[in-house]
Amino acid sequence: MDSTDSKTPLDVVAAVTGDPDPAEPPERHAHIIVIGGGLAGVAAAVRFRLKGWDDFLILERGDDVGGTWRDNTYPGAACDVPSHLYSYSFALNPDWTRSFSEQTEIQDYIRKVAHRYDIRRRHVFGCEVTDARWNDAAGRWELRTSKGRFTAAILVGAWGALCEPALPDIPGLDTFGGPIFHSARWSHEADLTGKKVAVIGTGASAVQIVPAIADQVAELRVYQRTAPWILPRLERRYTKAERLAFRRLPFYRRLVRSVLYWAHEAQVVGLARRPMLLKPVERLSRAKLRYEVRDPEVRRRLTPDYRLGCKRILLSNSYYPAFNREHVRLVTTRIDKVGVDAIATADGGLHDTDAIILATGFQVTDSPTYRKIFGRHGRSLCEVFDDVGRKCYKGTAVAGFPNLFILVGPNTGLGHNSMIFMIECQVNYLVDAVETMRRRRIRSVEVRADAQDRFSRTLQDKLSRSVWNTGRCSSWYMDKHGANTTMWPGFSYEFRQVTRTFDLDAYHTSHAETP
Ligand code: NAP
Repeated sequence: MDSTDSKTPLDVVAAVTGDPDPAEPPERHAHIIVIGGGLAGVAAAVRFRLKGWDDFLILERGDDVGGTWRDNTYPGAACDVPSHLYSYSFALNPDWTRSFSEQTEIQDYIRKVAHRYDIRRRHVFGCEVTDARWNDAAGRWELRTSKGRFTAAILVGAWGALCEPALPDIPGLDTFGGPIFHSARWSHEADLTGKKVAVIGTGASAVQIVPAIADQVAELRVYQRTAPWILPRLERRYTKAERLAFRRLPFYRRLVRSVLYWAHEAQVVGLARRPMLLKPVERLSRAKLRYEVRDPEVRRRLTPDYRLGCKRILLSNSYYPAFNREHVRLVTTRIDKVGVDAIATADGGLHDTDAIILATGFQVTDSPTYRKIFGRHGRSLCEVFDDVGRKCYKGTAVAGFPNLFILVGPNTGLGHNSMIFMIECQVNYLVDAVETMRRRRIRSVEVRADAQDRFSRTLQDKLSRSVWNTGRCSSWYMDKHGANTTMWPGFSYEFRQVTRTFDLDAYHTSHAETP
């Protein structure tokens, strides 16, 4: 790939089609276009830079890198994977201040990595992709965006899994008169001080928001549909001596990371292979609930009725104790409707409400982006997934979509370890694919349907033994076909093994014409 080192993204012009229309910017071409500048997009961009490639662009609809960590600015936002594990292997951070990092520190880290590897200039910020279509005759992707047209030989889908807010279909939600916003779109203008606030949802976001705003509000009602399993969060601030050791002793940094990695990796045995092993952990969680919540009735309603791990296990030391406070109420009756200034529940209750926080999760298995990506037959990812389910080869390639590499694609989710590990595995696979294509003068690669089917069957067979597939809870891990197309069914190092090299024999290829 050519180096265009001194140019900005807007200068990377390979083709100007026809007479330039003053109203529309000229079409721009890059060998690789990445959609999304979150953790995955940044990881890919850094690897490209380290390879000496510069003919790539990252189209990012926001105004900064960071993706979900840029967007989730709600009070209490933090990661539940330990800091020294939740970082890129190529950019270990000696400066983490806590064992579990807060959103601001993670966002700062991602920014610093982008700066250190000088990839910001490859970004086109404020660039929303409206659609991307594979042109088989030209052998390239053609994109329409809010910043004009782009073309690329290779398209990398780093649009993320936890970024599109899922809004509940509660009648009357749009008639509510006060501030109402999703946890991932926190309204910092809305002053919750002294207000009657409702939090709908009790997932990973809600258990952080509830204790963080409890002091500030006059009344807090938490609307729970399903009780989550909660475990202690081994959180603490690092001492000066520890931080000095992380900074001065790279070996110590790596050692801590390895210990954390293997300690987390071991948890998958219970989650994916032998759910019975999780029984003692359930006992620990119940004991924590008994110890932390005084009222036996509230305790009963906070007790989950499904096997631990079926939904994401949450970590918090402050969520349960919040319910000991007079003004924090747990509501477990179904919400009937929302009015201008109140929430009505199915038991006839009417709760005065000044502000509503929707901590209702994300569109994961039905991402709206799927409606924007069109493959070889002119069908969108959404149409194809609707027909055959979210089948995907190694979480990365989809039959019918040549030269498309999805990062954090179907079945790459983990319930036990760092997603950054999975992202780096996929980036290895992508980089090897690009190198293989260049070496062999291949114009396009498209995963074979039989290879994809075989891979999906093996995956689903393994998942059938996992706690996520017990059918005892409803979770966003399952798609509308009832298949678990979110989680990786084993050790994360097994994913590294299957993505170590690009396996060309699983792909159809077309070759560049020789002049
Ligand atoms: P979530 O885990 O999907 O939780 C959504 C919550 O909203 C659930 O309690 C759900 O109830 C409830 N809900 C959804 N629709 C509803 C409706 N119509 N009426 C009433 N309740 C409704 O979403 P999240 O908390 O934003 O977390 C999503 C994921 O983001 C996490 O699993 C995690 O991977 C990641 N995350 C991580 C952290 C962290 O590292 N600490 C923090 C935040 C997010 P049901 O359970 O009954 O469906």
